This record gives sequence, C-alpha cells and structure tokens, in this order.
Amino acid sequence: MRILLSFVFCWLVASSGGARAADGLNAVAERYVHLVLALGQHDPDYVDAFYGPAEWKTQAETQKKSLDAIGAEAAELLKKLRVEGTAAPSVESSNSGESGDEMLKLRREYLQKQISALAARVRMLKGEKLKFDVESRTLYDAVAPTYQDSHFDQIIAQLEKKIPGSGPLWQRYEEWRKPFMIPKEKLDTVFQLAIKECRARTLAHVPLPPNESFAVEYMTNKPWGGYNWYKGNFHSVIQVNTDLPIYIDRAVDLAAHEGYPGHHVYNSLLEKNLVRDRRWVEFTVYPLVSPQSLVAEGTANFGREVAFPTRTERIKFEKEILFPAAGIDSSRADEYYAVQDLMKQLDYAVNEAARRLINGEIDERAAVQWLQKYAVMEPARAEQRVKFIQRYRSYVINYNLGEDMVRRYIEKRSGAGPGKRWSEFGKLLSSPRLPNGLQ
Ligand SMILES: [Zn+2]
Repeated sequence: MRILLSFVFCWLVASSGGARAADGLNAVAERYVHLVLALGQHDPDYVDAFYGPAEWKTQAETQKKSLDAIGAEAAELLKKLRVEGTAAPSVESSNSGESGDEMLKLRREYLQKQISALAARVRMLKGEKLKFDVESRTLYDAVAPTYQDSHFDQIIAQLEKKIPGSGPLWQRYEEWRKPFMIPKEKLDTVFQLAIKECRARTLAHVPLPPNESFAVEYMTNKPWGGYNWYKGNFHSVIQVNTDLPIYIDRAVDLAAHEGYPGHHVYNSLLEKNLVRDRRWVEFTVYPLVSPQSLVAEGTANFGREVAFPTRTERIKFEKEILFPAAGIDSSRADEYYAVQDLMKQLDYAVNEAARRLINGEIDERAAVQWLQKYAVMEPARAEQRVKFIQRYRSYVINYNLGEDMVRRYIEKRSGAGPGKRWSEFGKLLSSPRLPNGLQ
C-alpha cells in the first residue's frame, strides 16, 4: 500500500528570512533524496525505505547516474550547505520559536551528515578501503569502544558458574536454554501477544497516527534476525527470520525493536511530524548506510526498556502471558533472565569480531570461532552473524553502541520518571537528531 504524498512537494511560499532559509534547505533536501535513490542503483542494500513520488524512483532507474556524478553532486550540496550555513546564521532564529530553531539547526546538520556519509559510501563503492573505526565514524558518525579479551573473560567466568558442566560453554548454553525455545507453531501467537503489549504501552504515552499498522511475515535464509520494511502511510512489514530457534526473550525484544516503540513507531513519527506536518522531503527516504541508522537501531533497542522500565515488570508480563502461551515453564523465568543479563554484557563481542574481521586481522573461520567463545554462540548462529558482518560491516555498532548512546541521552534528560522518559523518547523519535546530537 502506498500513497503518493504529492502535497509534500508544494512548498509554502513565504517571505521571511526563516522561510528563505527553509527554502534553501528544501532545495538541498530534494536533491539529496534523488541522490540517495541514484546511489541505490549501485548498492541494492542502500535504500531501506522510500515513500516519496514513485516517478523519482523510476527516474533514478532510467538515468542510472555514475558514481562519479553522484559524488560530484554530493560535494556540491555539501558546499551549498556550508555557504548557506555561514551566510545566514541568524536567519533560523528570526521568526520561529525555540524548538523551531533547534529543529532547523538539527535539520541542517542532518542533511550535512547524511550527505557526507553518502559521499563516503560512493568512495567505498569505487574501491576505497577503510579500517573498521574510520568506516563507522564516516558512515555512522560514531566509534565503538575497544575491549580486550579479558573484558569478556570475566563475564564468561560468571556464566560458567551459572551453567556448569563439561564441554564448551556455547554447547552447554544451547542445552541449558532448550526449555525456553518457542515452539515454531506457537511463534506467531507469542509474537502477536508481545506486540499487543508493547503497542498498548507505547500508545499510553505516545500519540500514534490512527491508521498505523503493520504485517508480520516469517522468512528463512536471511543474514538478519528481524527486519522492518517501512512502506509509508504509517504501514510497516516486519519480517522475522526463523532459520534458527527463537527463544522466549526474543518475543518482547523483536516486538519492541521492530514494532513498538522501535522502528515502526520511529518511521511513523518521522512521517507524521517531519514529512507531513513540516514537509521535509528528505525523510521520505531512508538510506541504510547513514548516521540515521545509529539512531534508528539505538532507539529500537532501547525502546524495550522504555516500554518495560523495570526488569521486574517485564518478567511479570512474560511469566503471566508469554511463557504460558509458549507452553514454557514460567517458574524458571528469573533464572533464565539472570543468564540473559550476563549474555547482554557480551554484546560488544560482536563489534570486536567485526572490527578484527574487517581490519583483516582474522579470517571468516577465526571470526566464527571467536564468536563461539566470546559471544557464546553455537556455530550456526556465529556463522549467521559473520555473514551479517560481511554484508553490513561496521553497521553492527549501531545496535549496542546506539542503544548505549540513546540510553545516556534519554536518562540525562528524564531523570528517574518513566513518564518523562517516554516524552523525551517520543521527542527523539520525531526529530532529525543524529549521533552527534546525542552527546
Ligand atoms: Zn533494527
């Protein structure tokens, strides 16, 4: 289902300085969308979502601009943004309120950072090789901290105590968590219950467009665990990969990450507040390889904690609703989540494997083995993760580093109150804020 947002492109004619500044940004924004679509012709993963005019996409397909032409145009747009930014610094504050000023400032920064990342992606597609941290800074505007093996060793030592026995820890862990696997035939029921709860919790605090909706599909043979495809008009298709067993904790994780208050809500709020209300055309397109992905993945991961502010609250819901629906014994829920808390502390192990693999310090086989040991993954899961790393490279930092950056940003602004936390979170999901604005 797609609605052409033709009204979006009838820009307001106004004569104030603020409006003139906005006109300049609108022109850059429109060319940026065309550039993203043009680059999508060279990189099939690049355009994650587009719900602007269909003819723009057709145009990109017909023109098939060269990488050189795209790079040159990106450089021209960046120059234009710089010149306009320095020539009219006071224009933005002329006639808009405080939050309006902030939004315009964020919009300009958004365009600048997104276009810089696009230019870097062009250089990479032309053969430029970047080291992991340089790549993540260039594409996602952030660098993940580096951890030595000893950092993970001490977490693993705690896990060893919780899951005693012989053989490698990943093997014992797989055996230990078997009773917590959601049977395939109950997956959709459990997942729908988790979505219902996450949606209700989100709706209690964040107004969503009345016609928002999404569909769930189950897939196989994918390098990712779940994917949200935003179609525009407040509709998403969420795909869940069932190649590997899905355990009970993933139901709420997936529902919150892909749905409420994660990707589906982020995309819907951007469409409502920025595309429809402000007519900011740049948000009709979402380039996957861009700083926006850190905010997208970070908010999607942190969204679970916003929906369930305490661990107790989450476990209570799962014990009462999800465990019975999955036919899993809920008396061991606390034990299960004590282990999951430790497993979560191993998240950065994936970044380390990715950094070493991308930098050529280890090969694919060694990366699989390293993940088995330090991320406690069974071979099939480690292989799936390595495939993900090979395809998406430094994108992996967006999940855990993104989550930590969003958590710090929200907590700094909201104190302890869950209500304030929701309002700050909703504001972030409705703004062009990028990683450098989360500091
Ligand atoms: Zn995601």
